[in-house]
Amino acid sequence: MPETCDICSSPDSMYPLLETSLLGITSAWIHRCASCGFRQIRPRLDRETLSLIYPGEYFHSEGGTGYRDFSRQAQRSLRLAYFLAGKMRRLVPPEARLLEIGCALGFLLQGLEKYTPWQVEGLDVSPFAAYFAGRMYGVPVTCGTLEEARFPDRHFDFIIQKDLLEHVTHPREHMRESNRILKSGGYLWLITPNGKANIRPLERAARKIREAGADALPLLGQGHLSFFSKNHLLRLFSETGFDCVSMRNISIRRGLRALGFLPGRNRCAAAILRQNISRPSPDAGSGAGSGRFGMLYERIAREIHRRYRPFRSRPLYFRQRGLLQATGRLPAWATVGLDFECLLRKR
Ligand SMILES: [Zn+2]
Repeated sequence: MPETCDICSSPDSMYPLLETSLLGITSAWIHRCASCGFRQIRPRLDRETLSLIYPGEYFHSEGGTGYRDFSRQAQRSLRLAYFLAGKMRRLVPPEARLLEIGCALGFLLQGLEKYTPWQVEGLDVSPFAAYFAGRMYGVPVTCGTLEEARFPDRHFDFIIQKDLLEHVTHPREHMRESNRILKSGGYLWLITPNGKANIRPLERAARKIREAGADALPLLGQGHLSFFSKNHLLRLFSETGFDCVSMRNISIRRGLRALGFLPGRNRCAAAILRQNISRPSPDAGSGAGSGRFGMLYERIAREIHRRYRPFRSRPLYFRQRGLLQATGRLPAWATVGLDFECLLRKR
């Protein structure tokens, strides 16, 4: 069967565009659809490579892909939960069942549990993330992909997918499955990057490498597999059974920087020498026992406590930051932000 495009379903329309190094682990080609322009890593990653990408180390502060400051990230998620709860309380009933797909260390779930009466649970492909969220915050987290979890039909009232859609191997199937487990009229809130702002720094790095004649690849540092435009997303949502209630561009300054309209970091992706691309052995990943998880847990938990700042968890501070952030948001037509924020409703 020919591999089709996830957006326009054209068969065999994806052609290679740009070779990159996926997290420094393997070489991966970004392909582009000749008919709709959608860009995606092909061939699709298999389950084994996926679990190599998301072992405990994905969240390791020195790994480059994790958070630089876990405490700050945890408190930032608490703030996001505060605003999200305020916005969604009007739309979602108090007895609602909520699922966060790709919940990472459970920071956002912890906040939602604090600010809403909803019954919350999480799902993450990283065994360490599931372990951490369960132990640190007592929230139930299943380990696996959405397809593996096999939730019942129409089970949830509200689904959250923050920075997830760009990481899944089959976005169309993933959205269809999200639709299946949502109740009719249920909501899906998601954040996913502006593909153009993600690719531009890679293209710039590739040009520099070519000019220098180096045997290197631009580093695709966050493990993104798909690069969506606004229209790609709208089509995908509509064809998988969702109405788009709202869509906005967020992180405008970082987006403008990535697109090259403003000076600063992130304008150009890092380069990695081909000889330094190292594929770890499978037992270096998720197969390790809870002993290693325990040590990593202690380290991150300690860091969260050590750097905790009480003022960052106060609603007054939230509102002040909220006002600042409002200046970094634009309606969906101006696609210069780093991310899209979308609220969808199951038809
Ligand atoms: Zn296409």
